[in-house]
Amino acid sequence: MIVNLIATLVEEDLAEDNGALAPDDRLTCHVHGRWIYQCVSSPVHVNRVTRHRWCRGCDAELGVVIDELTGEVAMRCPRCGRGGSAATARLIAACRASIEARRAA
Ligand SMILES: [Zn+2]
Ligand SMILES: [Zn+2]
Repeated sequence: MIVNLIATLVEEDLAEDNGALAPDDRLTCHVHGRWIYQCVSSPVHVNRVTRHRWCRGCDAELGVVIDELTGEVAMRCPRCGRGGSAATARLIAACRASIEARRAA
């Protein structure tokens, strides 16, 4: 439901501005105006410094696989098959939660 998405976006923008919500914990994306799992495969969500979707060992972006039906989310380096980091783990958790949030809408 689009109404629920917009309401959540506005709510999260406010909470983030107030310092009550960390950008990593958002279920919506303020750049793309979508649920995070819907746009996380965009290059905008890759960050070499924080290592969101980034494999440092291979100097490569992690690929994203999202299964909306099962709620399964995976991010893996196309070269070594791993590439995990704390930032990526948090991003995966946010994607899973956003799939749940959309279902509940
Ligand atoms: Zn986005
Ligand atoms: Zn790698």
